[in-house]
Amino acid sequence: DSSGMFEILLIPAFKDNYIWLLVRDGHAAVVDPGDPTPVIARLEALQLKLDTILITHHHADHQGGVEELVARWQPRVFGPAKESITGCTHPLSGGERIEVLGQAVDVLQVGGHTRAHLAYYVPGAVFCGDTLFGAGCGRLFEGTPAQMCDSLARLAALPDETRIYCAHEYTEMNLRFAVAVEPHNRLLRERVERVARLRAAGLPSVPSTLGEEKATNPFLRCGEPAVVAAAQAHGAVDLSLVPVFAAIRGWRNSF
Ligand code: ZN
Ligand code: FE
Repeated sequence: DSSGMFEILLIPAFKDNYIWLLVRDGHAAVVDPGDPTPVIARLEALQLKLDTILITHHHADHQGGVEELVARWQPRVFGPAKESITGCTHPLSGGERIEVLGQAVDVLQVGGHTRAHLAYYVPGAVFCGDTLFGAGCGRLFEGTPAQMCDSLARLAALPDETRIYCAHEYTEMNLRFAVAVEPHNRLLRERVERVARLRAAGLPSVPSTLGEEKATNPFLRCGEPAVVAAAQAHGAVDLSLVPVFAAIRGWRNSF
């Protein structure tokens, strides 16, 4: 239809990557096409023209398919200005508003996993790459804990009903850690069961909602007494937000 939002379709790739395909009126956009093969197959099967590629960050599992897709459809390529993105035609820094398939999309700066990582927000959905995951967050490869805290706060400020379209199926593993951090969080226990059922049925656990993440994701809960206590037990001395986040993230790395 010509009114309303694009449809959002899931293309699984590699071992646990999710590539998001946005579709409206025979046109398409794709978020983080790390592998061109399944994207081309889906575009052909649905007879879609690829207009736009949105890249969240420079890692190969997110942009490895750009070259082949550009050769075939010549789409616009949006990505972080301060990272090396193949064929980037529209470099972004965050704060911009762009148009994708007739829809206004807000670009958010969410550095931390990589230094200039971006997220793409439309009312109801955010495509956040490797920044926020189901019950977890990305590793700090290039950014600092303070930068990641800031980025997560920017995402946490979105409406609770916002669906979290992250780029990996890591939720079950993340939930095991979340339970270790907050063994007495009832909503977390319920989420563990819900996700186990989905995964056992071969279904994705993504997208979740921001409200669900705020209730169960330890990295969005670094002000909660139980999370602060867990951070203290894992070496945090200063119990303000950033050191608590850093201690929890550090514990996760060796979990
Ligand atoms: Zn990555
Ligand atoms: Fe990744």
